Amino acid sequence: MSYQVVWFKRDLRIEDHRPLVEAARRGRVLPLYIIEPEWLASPDFDPSHFTFVRASLLELDEQLKRLGQGLVVRVGEAVEVLRQLPVAHLWAHEESGNWVTYQRDRRVRKWAKETNTPMTEYPANGVVRRLKSRDAWSRNWGERMAEPILDPPSLLTPSIAPTQIPTAKELGISHDNRDLAQPGGIREAFETLDSFLSARGVRYHMEMSSPVTAESSCSRLSPYLAYGNLSTRHVVQATRRRVATLNKFDSPTWKRALRAFDARLHWRCHFMQKMEDDPRIEFENLVRAYDGMREPHWNEEWFEAWKAGRTGYPLIDACMRMLNQTGWINFRMRAMLVSFASYHLWLHWPKPALHLARLFVDYEPGIHYSQFQMQSGTTGINTLRMYSPIKQQADQDPDGVFVKEWLGDLQGYPPPIVDHKEAIALARARIGAVRKQTGTREEARTVLKKHGSRKKAPAKKVPAKKQSRQQMLF
Ligand SMILES: Cc1cc2nc3c(=O)[nH]c(=O)nc-3n(C[C@H](O)[C@H](O)[C@H](O)COP(=O)(O)OP(=O)(O)OC[C@H]3O[C@@H](n4cnc5c(N)ncnc54)[C@H](O)[C@@H]3O)c2cc1C
Repeated sequence: MSYQVVWFKRDLRIEDHRPLVEAARRGRVLPLYIIEPEWLASPDFDPSHFTFVRASLLELDEQLKRLGQGLVVRVGEAVEVLRQLPVAHLWAHEESGNWVTYQRDRRVRKWAKETNTPMTEYPANGVVRRLKSRDAWSRNWGERMAEPILDPPSLLTPSIAPTQIPTAKELGISHDNRDLAQPGGIREAFETLDSFLSARGVRYHMEMSSPVTAESSCSRLSPYLAYGNLSTRHVVQATRRRVATLNKFDSPTWKRALRAFDARLHWRCHFMQKMEDDPRIEFENLVRAYDGMREPHWNEEWFEAWKAGRTGYPLIDACMRMLNQTGWINFRMRAMLVSFASYHLWLHWPKPALHLARLFVDYEPGIHYSQFQMQSGTTGINTLRMYSPIKQQADQDPDGVFVKEWLGDLQGYPPPIVDHKEAIALARARIGAVRKQTGTREEARTVLKKHGSRKKAPAKKVPAKKQSRQQMLF
């Protein structure tokens, strides 16, 4: 007998899961998760990622068992695993992952074609496969987010015996010694969403930038979205329902908070779309005119100091230490960490990007590499943002609460490894020289057409200079 195989990847849930629903309509379902050695060996992999995924798999298995058929977990290369299973039809979500998963998906599609195995992939979120133009992208995103949330199938007819989910030790993964702030799983995901929408999010737009407040005022949904414990559509619709039910007893800040949050869910897919369209951005500058600008200046000692939180800039070091331990830091501090590596230390971004990919529990390649290049100034279309760690500390942690929490009393603390003013002046001159070349500007125009958001300028009259700056923000 052969089965309707549902291949779970970064969609570890049963709700709003179209491949599962469609498969269950057709026959006996074999819910499959493949632990790929290639993933475990990737330079962007960290044992904490597996810890999160395993917790999610345990719950997924529990929920699937309640429907009638538990999860089947296999370890191996995807095509090899599929070859050994009786597949009547393969169902999955489209994944906009890194180069490894992109190549693996191509191999799987090739296998399906060669063996005449029907294979259906559904969009996972607002990212559009084989996108021709960005023009209608936002409208399409809105339509997808408004589609009804799919209930899980009410019953799965048993297919083959579910398997134990191997432990990290059994897989030979090195010990995960980080104390992750957020455990994986569907229950945690729902609780996180509920607590954000009912209480924590009330001052989101005002408190998202400071590491003192962001820990509780940001949604903290990123790992649950990255591994699909919740669908983006689910979060968008829950947010809009909350907005619709706000009344005079609710704080007046809720509406703005939730609008700002909703916008970021849109950004999520917007940034992932860039990688879907241009997978090379994991390795190459988006605008190739920046090639060679930083590479010859690599300074291993500075890189090590940045990674270890020993740069002599307290806010940088405190952020890095928090990230090391918890797997999360807020957006502004991520941007500052990258800006410091890219401008102050003039480090070419790929190695720092891999380092942070391993540290982030919410590592999502599409967002990660697009953001990394944006904060490093290699997209050619975005405003350069060179954050001063001194100003950021004065603005975001004026009483030193955060720094003290992560660095202690600063006794014996090292002096800065670079001088802020000198480093920024040099970076500005270096990048400015490349930016103003005709070739760079021409390439940037092509990039803008392909990847730029088609965000409309505000209705009120805006000076031309400001308008183009707004357009450049994404
Ligand atoms: C260099 C750099 C690398 C990043 N790498 C990742 C990554 O690997 N994975 C990841 O999920 N986010 C990444 N981000 C974006 C952002 O920092 C995180 O999404 C956010 O801090 C996660 O916390 P939260 O869920 O509480 O966010 P919230 O502020 O509550 O936002 C809600 C959701 O919106 C999305 N989102 C928020 N801000 C952005 C943004 N600027 N761009 C795209 N999507 C956004 C995320 O899915 C997030 O979970 C990166 C940012 C930078 C500057």
